[in-house]
Order: sequence, then C-alpha cells, then structure tokens
Amino acid sequence: MTRVLFVTSEVHPVIKTGGLADVSASLPEALCTMDHDVQIVLPGYPAAMAVANASGARRRAQLNVGGFDVTLWQTQLPGTAVVLWLVECPPLFDRPGNPYQCSEDEDWPDNAQRYCLFAQVVALMALGEADLDWVPDLVHCNDWQSGLVPVILDNTRQRPATVFAIHNLAYQGLFSHRIFQALELPDSLWRFDRLEFHDQLSFLKGGLVFSDQLTTVSPGYAREVCQPELGYGLDGLLRYRQSALTGILNGIDTRHWDPQTDPLLDHHYSARSLGNKRLCRRDLQRRVGLDANGEGPLLGFIGRMVEQKGIDLLLAVLPELMDRGCQCVILGSGMRDYEQAALDLAEHHPGQLSVTLGFNESLAHRITAGADLFIMPSRFEPCGLNQMYSMRYGTVPVVHRVGGLGDTVFDPQTASADQANGFTFRSPDPPALRAAIDRALDAFRKPKTWRKLQRNGMAGDYSWQTRAREYTNVYRQALAARQSADHD
Ligand code: ADP
Repeated sequence: MTRVLFVTSEVHPVIKTGGLADVSASLPEALCTMDHDVQIVLPGYPAAMAVANASGARRRAQLNVGGFDVTLWQTQLPGTAVVLWLVECPPLFDRPGNPYQCSEDEDWPDNAQRYCLFAQVVALMALGEADLDWVPDLVHCNDWQSGLVPVILDNTRQRPATVFAIHNLAYQGLFSHRIFQALELPDSLWRFDRLEFHDQLSFLKGGLVFSDQLTTVSPGYAREVCQPELGYGLDGLLRYRQSALTGILNGIDTRHWDPQTDPLLDHHYSARSLGNKRLCRRDLQRRVGLDANGEGPLLGFIGRMVEQKGIDLLLAVLPELMDRGCQCVILGSGMRDYEQAALDLAEHHPGQLSVTLGFNESLAHRITAGADLFIMPSRFEPCGLNQMYSMRYGTVPVVHRVGGLGDTVFDPQTASADQANGFTFRSPDPPALRAAIDRALDAFRKPKTWRKLQRNGMAGDYSWQTRAREYTNVYRQALAARQSADHD
C-alpha cells in the first residue's frame, strides 16, 4: 500500500473548471479501491469550505506559513470515503467564483502568492511537519498550480517521491522576476534549467524539472509535448526528461456517466436497447428550443469557448450544415468574441441552433445523451473527456485526430468494423472538419452502420480501474528512483 498525497487545485463535485476536476475525483477513488491510501489536498475556496461545514470537517492543524495563518481541515470528498484536506487561508482563497480568475479574461493578480503558499503547506504535509499523524510516501502533483511542490521538496531530507501530471501544457503559471523575488524563493532557482523560462518564473517548469516521474493524460499528448508544435517552448526539457514521462489516458466516472441510470436524464437506455435515446433527443430539443419535429442529425458541442477547442471551426461550418437540415446545440463559455459569434449565428437560425452560455452540468448530460453526433474540433487536446462521455452514451464523436482524441476515437477509414467508433480529421481547418462531418452524416443515413458505430463506442472500456493500474506502475518507478537517490 502506498500513501499518496494528491495535490489539486480543483476537484469534482466541490469546484470544477475543467477535466482536472473530474480526474482529481475519480483517480484517487480508483486507487483507493486498489488498496492505496490516497488523500486529496485542495485550497480552501468558499465552495470547499462549504463542503467542510456541511460534513462536520475536523480542524487538524493551525500553521503560520509565510506570515499567513493557515488552518488544515480534514473532511471527505462528497459521496466517497476519500480523505480531503482543505488549506484554509481566507486572505488568499476566500473569494467567490472561478478559482483562477477574477473575470472572464483576467487572472487573480496574486495567483503566484496563492499557489506558492498552497505549495508550501503541501510540502509541510509531505515532510511530516504539519502536525498530522499521516505522512505520504509519494506526492502526486497536478498542473502548474502545484508546480512549486516538487521544487520546495527537492533537497529536503527524507522527502517523499514526487510525480507531476501535465493536464494541459498551455497553462504554465508564468510570472515576472519581480514576483519571483517577492515569493522569496532562493536566487539559485533563477536559472534556465530550473524555474526561469524566457525571463519569467514558470511554476509548471518547476514541476517538470524537479519531479521524479512525469505523466500526461494520453500517450498521444506525451509524444506531442516533446515536439516544438505543442511543446510551448518546453519540448526540449520534456525530450530531456522523456524517459521519466508516461502518457496514461484519463478514464471517466462510469457511475456518474451511465445512460442506463443517469439521474439527470428522464429516459434511460443501453447499447442493447437504444430506443429511448430518441426520447432523450426530443427532450433535449424541447429544453433548448430546437424544432422538435426536426428529424435531421443533431450535433452537440460542450466545452470552453477558447481557441484550443476549435469552436471557431464549428461556427464556420454550421451555416452550411443548417442549410442542409442539421440542428446543433452548443453549451460553453469562454472568450467573448466566440460567445458573441455563436449567439449571432443562433439568432439567424432559430429552432435549428441553440447556444447556452455558462456551466451547466445537467444540460451537459442531456446534450451527451440527446445529440446524434458530438463535435470536438480541438486544435490540441491533452486527453478530452467529452468524446468518451459521448461514446458511452451512443453519441458518435467527430474529432480532430490529436492528443487523447486520436487515442480514443477510431475512424472507419483506418479502423476495423469492430473498432470504428467515430470520425477523425487530420488538419484543424473548416474544410477538413466539414469533410469528416459529411462522412458522419453519410453513415447516419445508414441505420445499420450507425448502430454499429454507436455500439462500438458504448462497448469501450473508459473505466478508471484500468488506468489506475498504470498509475501504480508510475508510482513504483518514482518510489524506486527516490530510494536509489537515498542510497547515493
Ligand atoms: P478541459 O479540461 O480542457 O476543459 P476536458 O474535455 O478534459 O476539457 O474536460 C472538460 C470537462 O468539463 C468535461 O467534464 C465537460 O463535460 C465539462 N464542461 C466543459 N464545459 C462545460 C459547460 N459549459 N457546462 C458543463 N460542463 C462543462
């Protein structure tokens, strides 16, 4: 049994902005069922403190870190037996809304200080210096917000092993040299092979340089981040560390995302009886104001409306698809220009295109069940969860063949009839997307072919159990690397 401290800046259902929250909930739980003792640590945002209050959390330690009073609370991740630690520090974390941003386009100005303090507290927990009766063998960090943890732990005696997971290399936690100095990190860290990145402080680089093992969320993305196109200037470092880097596909919460039992749906179905999927479709059409008599294919999109997700590519091909009788439902939020462009298009196609701005878990489930095709034209996609949710719900994905999308969606042009579960295209531009959607629409018109694609997708193994085993291998390697360093 390995004791693991799982460090994250978001976890479902407490606080979520994207896929990291899903992973942070499901992976620790899956590892716990394999007899590891995995405990999660999260900043004490208001949503987290509300969970603590509701669950009768225990105040476990009172610390003073960098001049801030910090309280460590122990509770459980709702609906699970997994221990959840909350780092309460009101001046830094007691803020409403998005954990990272004060407005749609602006980060909290003191993010460096917030996540540096978080890392300092985690390091104390990791070293057994936080006055707790539990000390981890290994610390599993996630994304830039926990990037300073391995940095602080480096060179400490008896430190646990460290694993750093990249969920998205595009978010690096970059700050000025002035901020680096204000954090009072040792000057020796300001070097190109440590935290300095083109004259800036990079939290992410700290994680990549100082951790024993690195992971990312799909084998495809693990290869891509080592190349200049998707390496964001860190590809050289990642090539240097390639022997310590493993790509492991994300799983999904197969209990939460199950078309046979999903409480957010009014009708349920399975691969053997797909009939009720049509009722979910009708229900979705009514709810979002689409013409419920429209029999043409219904396309779905859920996600952040940012360049990465290729929402602009979808908007570019939609007018023609609408002319051909397709319907489309879009759910998301992000950059104002994309949001406005989507709303404008919807205004021109009433009853055919519905756009809902915002984060809406229940609508996300209804779209996943009610759509026929799910469109993911992401320019890059470390793993992507929505394509797996949709396949599990018999909704056939059309995706750009990149990162985790390429590892999970198999096109009939290259895959066998028993393997094919969706449609892929190679270059992220409107003609390529349209060509892939055209092929999907052809298949949609052939019920037998379509059923086969649906059933292949529904039969896929997206469970965390399989993935968790791969993580235990990485843990083993990190612990071994740590042990041999101790003997040196
Ligand atoms: P990323 O982490 O890059 O945003 P992922 O596909 O890995 O993308 O995960 C996104 C997660 O957030 C999925 O669970 C998806 O269903 C959910 N999601 C994204 N946008 C919304 C939204 N507007 N409403 C509800 N759920 C959303």
